[in-house]
Amino acid sequence: LQRLFPEIDGNAAGRLVSQVFAEQPQISDIVRETMRRGLATEHEIEVGRPNRRLMLRVKSSLMKALDPEPRVMGVFLLVQDITQIRKLENMRSEFVANVTHELRTPLTLIAGFVETLQSWERLSNKDRGTALQVIELETERLKRLINDLLTLSEIENIETRTQWRRLAVDQEIRQVLALTRPLAEEKNISLNFHPAGEEAVLHGNPDWLRQMMINLLENAIKYTPADGTVEIVTERRGQSICISVRDTGIGIAEEEHQLIFQRFYRVDKVRGRESAGTGLGLTIVQDIVSELGGKIELESRPDAGSCFRVTFPVAEQQQLAL
Ligand code: ADP
Repeated sequence: LQRLFPEIDGNAAGRLVSQVFAEQPQISDIVRETMRRGLATEHEIEVGRPNRRLMLRVKSSLMKALDPEPRVMGVFLLVQDITQIRKLENMRSEFVANVTHELRTPLTLIAGFVETLQSWERLSNKDRGTALQVIELETERLKRLINDLLTLSEIENIETRTQWRRLAVDQEIRQVLALTRPLAEEKNISLNFHPAGEEAVLHGNPDWLRQMMINLLENAIKYTPADGTVEIVTERRGQSICISVRDTGIGIAEEEHQLIFQRFYRVDKVRGRESAGTGLGLTIVQDIVSELGGKIELESRPDAGSCFRVTFPVAEQQQLAL
């Protein structure tokens, strides 16, 4: 009661409901309504101060004694704090709205260009080429969006925890480097790896670690101009393992540092490269890092490159035995 209604000081016994809940007149209204109508009610009310608003569900029912003759004894109130539930519901519907919006943009473009192509004979070769190219690009984008969304839901799925095992970090990173090297070569970017050695051992899902590295490396390559450098360093520091990905790319302004981890947030939106990324890459990275019990830090300034550093606790002996 104290947590929900901190204004109520100590003893409420013997005082009027309207006095006890002076700051929450809705409660006295509910009591009065229940008494008057003789029926159970259910209401949702907001209480508290602007910076500490609580959503409460209040169920009321009449307390009746039947013996020796029927009479009303009072009103029973059941108060449930639904602030968190409401917050989660809002997040979910916001997420669905965002996903729908993100899916609609490429679909609208595809539909538009398919319509254009229906008058195939009247189009020049160049226009046909452009239309097909847009359709191809937007289809790719849809595929990436759906894959990223699936990855996000997999990370949040408890069952993938059963696939946790001992991970030799350097070995996993080498595999990811083999995959991303062709991307770097296209832009003549050098990828340099400085491994920590055998001490760098984590406990986790190998797919997640690789996915995290793929996202960080793809970003580093994507946002670094040709002939740049990307350095990957793994280090053992006491009971932690640090993995950093440092690039010589375009950098990120201070005010974007928090925002880029949000779902669907893209800095390049502003720069008009709408179809480049999904804006989910770093959200996935952050989800993975927190599921593995680590943290992520960013050091970056515009035109001065970026460094993403993730730190994990090392695997404990009993986990390594698994
Ligand atoms: P995207 O699919 O757009 O790459 P991310 O979630 O991976 O989505 O990244 C969000 C935004 O953060 C990107 O649009 C980009 O502007 C910025 N960003 C991410 N990594 C880097 C980097 N290494 N250098 C500069 N900007 C970056």
